[in-house]
Amino acid sequence: SRAKLFDEKQDVKVTFKDVAGLEGAKEEVQEIVDFLKTPDKYTSLGGKIPKGALLVGPPGTGKTLLAKAVAGEAKVPFFSLSGSDFVEMFVGVGASRVRDLFKQAKEKSPAIIFIDEIDAVGRARGKSNFTGSNDERENTLNQLLTEMDGFGSKTNVIVLAATNRADVLDKALMRAGRFDRQIYVDLPDVRERKEIFEVHLRPLKISEGLDMDFLSKQTPGFSGADIANVCNEAALIAARNNKKAVDKQDFLDAVDRIVGGLEKKNKIIT
Ligand code: ATP
Repeated sequence: SRAKLFDEKQDVKVTFKDVAGLEGAKEEVQEIVDFLKTPDKYTSLGGKIPKGALLVGPPGTGKTLLAKAVAGEAKVPFFSLSGSDFVEMFVGVGASRVRDLFKQAKEKSPAIIFIDEIDAVGRARGKSNFTGSNDERENTLNQLLTEMDGFGSKTNVIVLAATNRADVLDKALMRAGRFDRQIYVDLPDVRERKEIFEVHLRPLKISEGLDMDFLSKQTPGFSGADIANVCNEAALIAARNNKKAVDKQDFLDAVDRIVGGLEKKNKIIT
């Protein structure tokens, strides 16, 4: 059987309400939502709608979530694939996959294409990424650039790409008419962590008077993904202890567990 080429979602339910914090980034992508919804308004004076934007920031900060929310807000289909899927691919497969992806998206436009981990294909050409098959990676990258350059003025497909390594990207990607906008998606501060907790506590039964300021202060350096993890772990810990609601101690235990996991991960990296 043939491997799945890319992912396509028609009816995206994620909206900006699901993305906590990230006010600046949300403001910037709101513009992209407007371009998708009313392209004629923006092209009426001769301006060109941007083809792509790069979401830059550490892992787990909500880049994928934000890209999905753009599709959800604009009510357009969401096409996605991950750059890391291209590693270890046979000759020609990466490029043809990119071609298929853009073809489908253009047929269903207006649409969002999301490329996660673009650094896996978008590293500066001629620099090894230690995985071999550099030629194939370069073919894939070249195809991506060709597709974006081929967008006509009426295409109305916007390509969002995510990376936590903007420094290694091929400068050709950032040239005008490609990913010429960079949107920073940073780790949340204490106030933003509280907002993220509020989003992820919504589906939980929590004990009365649970102090969210306290929780946000207990989690410096946590990403949105870490906080989502804490909330889920806390609910499981409370259930294991046969509680009727998730309380402060469950959250503290969950934080300890996540911190333990993060420390282990960092030990492997360094
Ligand atoms: P990676 O670089 O690892 O792909 P990412 O930046 O794309 O990470 P997401 O995959 O969007 O991060 O985040 C993972 C999950 O963490 C989300 O599905 C969501 O549950 C939670 N999350 C992350 N950031 C936020 C946020 N700002 N608001 C609410 N939830 C968040």
